[in-house]
Amino acid sequence: MANSAPVSTDVGHMYDVMTELFTTLLDGNIHVGYWSDDEDRASVAEASGRLTDMVVDRVGAGPGSQVLDVGCGAGTASLRLATTQDEAVVTGISVSHGQIETAKARARELGVAHRVHFRYADAMDLPFGPGMFDGAFAIESLIHMPDQDGALQEIGTVLRPGARLVIADIIERCPASGAEKEIIDNFCAVTQCRTIASLPDKLDRAGFEVLEFEDISANVMRAFAVLSERMREVRADFVSRIVPAHFDQLVELFRCFSGVTAAGYVLAVAQRR
Ligand code: SAH
Repeated sequence: MANSAPVSTDVGHMYDVMTELFTTLLDGNIHVGYWSDDEDRASVAEASGRLTDMVVDRVGAGPGSQVLDVGCGAGTASLRLATTQDEAVVTGISVSHGQIETAKARARELGVAHRVHFRYADAMDLPFGPGMFDGAFAIESLIHMPDQDGALQEIGTVLRPGARLVIADIIERCPASGAEKEIIDNFCAVTQCRTIASLPDKLDRAGFEVLEFEDISANVMRAFAVLSERMREVRADFVSRIVPAHFDQLVELFRCFSGVTAAGYVLAVAQRR
């Protein structure tokens, strides 16, 4: 989709710069963590690993399944799926060249490069044949796509009928106004995100039946506050690589975003009709 390509390039450049910071703090992941309740004292890195497991477990992959990781980051979820689901074949895509190189190196180190492949590709214009995947997942990648409907159509096309798509991402729970709207707008401008409105309708339009749609905001939104604190602690290690003003802006935005109730987080499982 020609008109979205510059956006994907910008998002890719952002991740070329930011990936090491997030993967250092989140044990290889670039997504929020899951805590069972307020008493749960898991670290943000542990909690992030839990969410990875919750997603890959829901894909329903078996031996020989072909699975697509849409927006694979440093490859952690792809590698997790490949090393827990014996003989699954995983393809991870990203619009960050740096992430693809990192992910490929990790697959080689783990000895699974023959069945975990990473390549540069845009989810809004997928380079795969119809029905070639048995499952897919997308963790915090749809939020970066200006054409979320188009991306879901593309994913639907490359999945075979009956295949599952698991999505973990930031959604609009209700229309935001006032101070919350301002925080969301700032958050989206700096992170190059757009929250997802009406995901079930989008899934339906793209040819999916929604099997599970769980609002897990109460379990995950604290991640932004914890991440903000952790970023403050490691600031000195990263300000030579990340523009200090940008770094500080993110620290503040994450802190504020954690308390926004109009935005939230969903774990959704859909099945290709
Ligand atoms: N899913 C990973 C990474 C999340 S960060 C994890 O949870 O750790 C967002 C990811 O989405 C990055 O890898 C980014 O390159 C990817 N992404 C954003 N826009 C994309 C697009 N249009 N096509 C493919 N990947 C995209």
